Amino acid sequence: MKTLTPDLGSTIYTEDIGRQMYGLMSELYPICRSITGNGIRQTLNIIKEHIPLEIHEVPSGTAVFDWTVPKEWNIRDAYVKNSKGGKIIDFKKSNLHILNYSAPVKKKVSLAELKEHLFTLPEYPDWIPYRTSYYNENWGFCMSHNQFMTLKEDEYEVFIDSSLEDGHLTYGEYYIKGEKPDEVLMSCHICHPSLCNDNLSGIAVASFLAKSLYAATPRMSYRFLFIPGSIGSITWLSQNEAQTGRIKHGLVAACLGDAGGFTYKKSRKGDAEIDRAVMNVLKNSGLEHKSLDFIPFGYDERQFCSPGFNLPVGCLMRTPNGAYPEYHTSADNMEFVKPEHLKESFSIFLSVFFVLENNKRYLNLNPKCEPQLGKRGLYKALGGGKNNREKEMAMLWVLNLSDGHYSLLDISDKSGVSFQVIKEAADALSQHGLLREMQ
Ligand code: ZN
Repeated sequence: MKTLTPDLGSTIYTEDIGRQMYGLMSELYPICRSITGNGIRQTLNIIKEHIPLEIHEVPSGTAVFDWTVPKEWNIRDAYVKNSKGGKIIDFKKSNLHILNYSAPVKKKVSLAELKEHLFTLPEYPDWIPYRTSYYNENWGFCMSHNQFMTLKEDEYEVFIDSSLEDGHLTYGEYYIKGEKPDEVLMSCHICHPSLCNDNLSGIAVASFLAKSLYAATPRMSYRFLFIPGSIGSITWLSQNEAQTGRIKHGLVAACLGDAGGFTYKKSRKGDAEIDRAVMNVLKNSGLEHKSLDFIPFGYDERQFCSPGFNLPVGCLMRTPNGAYPEYHTSADNMEFVKPEHLKESFSIFLSVFFVLENNKRYLNLNPKCEPQLGKRGLYKALGGGKNNREKEMAMLWVLNLSDGHYSLLDISDKSGVSFQVIKEAADALSQHGLLREMQ
């Protein structure tokens, strides 16, 4: 890919940032998370070692639009034993074995009754599926289909040491004040247990993007949300409705560590500046990518883009949710994601931020015919690189379209020249008195 080296993030954007993000994922991987509970608190506390996260606790029973913050779920142990006392399913070996949000249970059951509470994936018989039952009280276990097929008539002991009690919904928020109150919203879900691409990759990329902005003084303000899927964004929107007008651009980060090309799911608006910025960056990256129009399912963009808010929030992924067989199974593990993919994803987000930070309009102060670039030393300013022709074209495009109407992103889109080169051309022309930034 062409190197896009935005001025944001330079403090931590090092060669091994992919490894650092992978390291954070490895630390978070063993934790059993859900939409509420101590797994989320533990996760946020680890993220807090990287960024000064503010942790919010919203009580169970709080009304949030048409929803209610649920009871808090915590789990300590769970297993199924056969009549000989052998553990055939053990939560301590994989937290995917438990149906997430299972109610406590301790009883003896027949094979037939046990089977009503077992979930498997016949099409991938070695993998354990990930299943949840948040709003419908139930209990259950997930296991490989191969193991399921070996179960015999027996009296089984099922034990789930969990609690479903009034408590809190916990989420993390990190706000970076920029020169302007206009906000860029970055959101990721934090509610999945040991799953890597769908969940931890988004957390890792968002955490390190936030970390990269920590030392910077951006033009825009940035708000990072680490929230449980659906109920987290509904809760945040319900409690922060008055300030959502400041959100000018937003991205949901998910599925960012697999080997697939990029997928950008556009905001409901479809042609918001964020939609254009992401597509511009992806096009100029030279990397494989595609875009999808908004659909009202997927991640938290569906709440941010609900008609009562209609915020310009898209979702940037590599292979989308549900489009890879490992999705929501034990095979979405630390081997499925790679540091180099995380690093590439991080770099794309940073390049999008760079566009949002620098997408301004300029006025050509010498609009009657082309100004003579040579006598101003502007050809020399191009340097001796082999991209001279592109840089010269960039100057001509910027001069011609800087009539106060077109932004630098418009000019990059129209010219096919990367935003970074267009921005550099605008900088050079401004320094030579040929352009003035519009307010
Ligand atoms: Zn998921």
